[in-house]
Amino acid sequence: MKFIGAHVSAAGGVENVPQRAHEIGATGFALFTKNQRQWKAKPLTEENIEGFKSECEKFGYSMDAVIPHDSYLINLGHPEKAKLQKSRDAFLIELQRCEQLGIKLLNFHPGSHLKKISEKECLSRIAESINIALDQTGFTKAVIENTAGQGTNMGFRFEHLAEIMEQVDNRERVGVCIDTAHAFAGGYDISTEEGFYDTFEQFEKIIGFDKLMAMHLNDSKKELGTQVDRHDSLGDGFIGWTPFELIMKDERFNGIPMILETPNTERWSEEIAKLKELAGR
Ligand SMILES: [Zn+2]
Ligand SMILES: [Zn+2]
Repeated sequence: MKFIGAHVSAAGGVENVPQRAHEIGATGFALFTKNQRQWKAKPLTEENIEGFKSECEKFGYSMDAVIPHDSYLINLGHPEKAKLQKSRDAFLIELQRCEQLGIKLLNFHPGSHLKKISEKECLSRIAESINIALDQTGFTKAVIENTAGQGTNMGFRFEHLAEIMEQVDNRERVGVCIDTAHAFAGGYDISTEEGFYDTFEQFEKIIGFDKLMAMHLNDSKKELGTQVDRHDSLGDGFIGWTPFELIMKDERFNGIPMILETPNTERWSEEIAKLKELAGR
């Protein structure tokens, strides 16, 4: 069973998301539970919470198929104390909002060293940030996304993700999300069958499929190893359809949300339909 969907708009409230996902034929979805470009957020109301839960039930969405993305402002590896604290506070709120909504997974980018601390130190800070947040919450898992490595972003090597996870005390509540565009721009050539299998063999050795909790399915407007993060519609970029065909046929990717973050929202229905067809249903 594969949960295939997209990162759907939460305009007007999180309770509007399940219907929007349903309308594009999605069997899973991602969302922002608050404005991703602002620090502040109004607390979720009873109406938001009950509305979200009942709409998920109405449209048949299992909580195994839902994975919010946190705010882009958060940097859990920030080199400066006050700004690190601001990020940690915001991340805790993100996790708490997920728990209010009954959501089991929260996806986030690891963090950036801003050339002020070493990569190693940054990774340790990120792990410490995760530990602090998990200590204060109950069940939602922290799902670290690989990045393209743009700027001073950490997380473009599988080793970075593994190094963070090794320092997280509650191993049950940490995992990863692999974004195909980020992997490709970060230097993993998944565009060919050989490269795809080689990449996921490395993934299995360094991280392990038991820790794969979600995928972001995006093509890339930028070439292999450029470390520039620009998503493209499936088949339109430098990656092409090969890895998406292979993922859909591969049981190691079952049971997790597979989320499109492709730029042309008008094409999501078509992209989802094609992925479902490739998965064989
Ligand atoms: Zn992301
Ligand atoms: Zn992504």
